[in-house]
Amino acid sequence: MTDSNFRNGRRRRRVQHPKVTGFGEQKEVQNPKPAYPSLGQQARNLAQTAGQVARNPKPASSDLYEQRMKICRACAFFDAEQVRCRKCGCKLKGKARFEAAKCPIQKW
Ligand code: SF4
Repeated sequence: MTDSNFRNGRRRRRVQHPKVTGFGEQKEVQNPKPAYPSLGQQARNLAQTAGQVARNPKPASSDLYEQRMKICRACAFFDAEQVRCRKCGCKLKGKARFEAAKCPIQKW
């Protein structure tokens, strides 16, 4: 029977490796994604958009929609996974389809 702790009849010594604590090192964080606003703020933003759309429910043309989505896809606040804006929390597939809706940082 062989024991993995023994080799050539001699017990292997456990070698203690120094732990890497990261102390003194600076981790480089690349383009941290902005956090979504609080749920309360998202609710207020949604209500504001709903008000704009209620006053002018005209749908955006498909060209305008595509133009808006192109701007969003290049934006630092764009969440590609959920197709949402991290600045306002809105779902962009819905919001960008209404002419009256506005980008929270006036990109469209
Ligand atoms: S709505 Fe405005 S802030 Fe939000 S992802 Fe689009 S361009 Fe960026």
